[in-house]
Amino acid sequence: MSKFFFNKLFRFLSIFLFFNSSISPARSSSALAAWSLNSNGVLELRTKSNSKLKAYFQKGGITFGDRFWIDFPGELKNPRTIEGNGPIKEIRLGKPNKGKTRLVIEFSANSNLKPLDWRLVGIDKNRWKIKLFSLPKNSFKRIGEGLIRKPTNNFKSNKKLLDTRKRNNEFLRLPDIKKNNFYVVIDPGHGGPDPGAIGIGGLREAEVVLDVSKRVKNLLIEKGVNVRMTRNKEVDLDLPPRVSIANRTDADVFVSIHANASRGKRRDINGLETFYFSGWRGRLLAKKIQKQILKVSPGSPDRGVRQGRFFVIKNTKMPAVLVEIGFLTGRLDARRLEKSIHRERIAYAITKGILEYLNRVG
Ligand SMILES: [Zn+2]
Repeated sequence: MSKFFFNKLFRFLSIFLFFNSSISPARSSSALAAWSLNSNGVLELRTKSNSKLKAYFQKGGITFGDRFWIDFPGELKNPRTIEGNGPIKEIRLGKPNKGKTRLVIEFSANSNLKPLDWRLVGIDKNRWKIKLFSLPKNSFKRIGEGLIRKPTNNFKSNKKLLDTRKRNNEFLRLPDIKKNNFYVVIDPGHGGPDPGAIGIGGLREAEVVLDVSKRVKNLLIEKGVNVRMTRNKEVDLDLPPRVSIANRTDADVFVSIHANASRGKRRDINGLETFYFSGWRGRLLAKKIQKQILKVSPGSPDRGVRQGRFFVIKNTKMPAVLVEIGFLTGRLDARRLEKSIHRERIAYAITKGILEYLNRVG
């Protein structure tokens, strides 16, 4: 790498600084609550109130495009990468170091940016915006996660909302488990050219279950469980290799994650079910998971813990289950499963079921 290139690579610009932090930086959860990069090039953020943000810009090089990033106090739970479109190569959420959250927007090569004109503007005590680019209509499709504008109610109903939320999340607390003692194989159903079920609005089973599976993996790892995924991305994977991954490595449990579709795509059919093939262990694991996923899916019918002869649970040597986390064709389930907040809750529920099982059976 030439010296010139190296200098250019690291010529970065610290652009803005905002203060007034009421958040203690250590071990608190991420101050970033929601974000959206809109089609008009405006990035909108919602944070915890009075958060201190730092924004940076770095000119691109040969191996990467121009990058803009913002650091937030508080630690991100699940680092992730979201594919971009138009001028955006990708958007990454990461933790650059412990107790921090970083939102990185990487532009495609030769984007014509004017970072010196950028202004990160606070529009409320918890909302921000910055215009990053202007382009003709329809050249960029919005990317975002979460709600920027939360419904503002009066104080009383807000408090009620908070109470409900607190109550709703109570069961999300995960039990502790002996660290480095267990090994779990997570099997996201389908993948690659096999999209699995296609639901309302084109929701694809393969993608939904991969996202949920990754979240389960991260949560288990945080608890000190060793995890192997049968697939980490959108690849085609036959059923036998999924089984042999688990059998070869002596996993303690095998959990295959799927989403359902009803015949005739009936929107009134919703519900959750968990299958096992045989044995009390498989049945217990299924029961533990089913109980938890129902809790995070109020109103969606309990289709029960059932015996099923699916290849992956029939041929695995360890206790194995196949979880159907809802109907992508059902109005109620699909509306939930398309949202990352619900996928996170489902992931918590599955993780909790697994941990409870492992604690009980060991
Ligand atoms: Zn499936």
